[in-house]
Amino acid sequence: MKTIAVTGGAGFIGSHLCDMLLKLGYEVLCVDNCFTGTKANISHLLSNPRFEFIRHDITFPLYLEVDEIYNLACPASPIHYQFDPVQTTKTSVHGAINMLGLAKRVKAKIFQASTSEIYGDPQIHPQREDYFGYVNPIGFRSCYDEGKRCAETLFFDYRRQHKVVIKVARIFNTYGPRMHPNDGRVVSNFIVQALKGEPITIYGDGKQTRSFCYVDDLIEAFILLMDTSDDVTGPMNLGNPGEFTILELAEKIIYLTNSKSQIVFKPLPHDDPKQRKPDISLAKEIIGWDPKINLEEGLRYTIKYFDKLFS
Ligand code: NAD
Ligand code: UDP
Ligand code: UDP
Repeated sequence: MKTIAVTGGAGFIGSHLCDMLLKLGYEVLCVDNCFTGTKANISHLLSNPRFEFIRHDITFPLYLEVDEIYNLACPASPIHYQFDPVQTTKTSVHGAINMLGLAKRVKAKIFQASTSEIYGDPQIHPQREDYFGYVNPIGFRSCYDEGKRCAETLFFDYRRQHKVVIKVARIFNTYGPRMHPNDGRVVSNFIVQALKGEPITIYGDGKQTRSFCYVDDLIEAFILLMDTSDDVTGPMNLGNPGEFTILELAEKIIYLTNSKSQIVFKPLPHDDPKQRKPDISLAKEIIGWDPKINLEEGLRYTIKYFDKLFS
């Protein structure tokens, strides 16, 4: 039976990954410092004898014996990663060095949760993996974008220099149950506002676009990518290519929640990307993956979760 470490395992995506790995019969070590994640996300797993929670900050060394590592630890929403930007860079860079050092020592395969943010405010559309991006190195988002870019560099240098087996996924906006209700991301914000009958806050004119992937589809791709042969490294875009304006998203959520909320317009945050949509040809070709859950269906599941959370 394989032992698999999931850093950031008490977070939104990480907790769904822990669920799936346990379902597949593996032993799971969930490593998290609970900065944005919570024990509530994994409380249903604590009694499972194949599950262990380790409270630890990955910017410090960690000695474990594992076969695989999924490195997800890092705050992902702009308000959280900008709260302590130096720590965000440390988590991406020192954290990656420690987890790669661990992978090197125990000869484990290691997966990196990279991000579409490494493309910055992209000048080509949709984004393919061979696009190098258009990133501000000194702005408010840079701690996250440049941290994740440096982590990718480290992954490829550990492969070239130390023959570590790596899998790098570039994740596009993902949503679903267990998103933090106050983390400021657009899907959770709009659903919470709609359910509470509060104004729906659109930043800018709402014409900027994003492509939203439901979390179950994403987890399926993680496992498929981890199980590829050692020569498959990525980077591989993972996301749902369905592209929507933020205004369309707001209208959909108002409709699905049957809400009386009004839309209000607020200033656009710094360096907010105008367009984002993944080209997922590589994922289709290499891992035979295509997301199945469309935005409306995924939003229904997510609304149900938040509805229950508040009732
Ligand atoms: P999240 O904030 O819910 O999860 C991140 C987890 O990492 C949290 O549990 C947090 O406590 C933990 N963490 C943060 N710093 C840590 C540290 N130094 N040591 C140990 N644990 C630490 O966010 P998420 O949406 O689940 O994102 C998971 C990963 O996926 C992140 O690496 C993020 O950058 C990446 N990603 C997410 C999205 C998305 O749309 N959700 C998109 C692109 C990339
Ligand atoms: N490391 C770790 N767990 C391990 C092995 C290494 O956390 O099981 C850390 C270690 O503290 C080191 C980092 O990973 O700082 C990088 O390890 P590597 O072997 O690449 O570098 P070195 O030890 O030579 O600095
Ligand atoms: N956004 C918005 N209202 C909100 C939260 C976000 O209009 O209450 C916008 C935000 O400016 C961005 C998009 O929605 O254009 C996605 O924001 P999010 O923070 O979810 O993700 P990211 O910008 O990292 O893709």
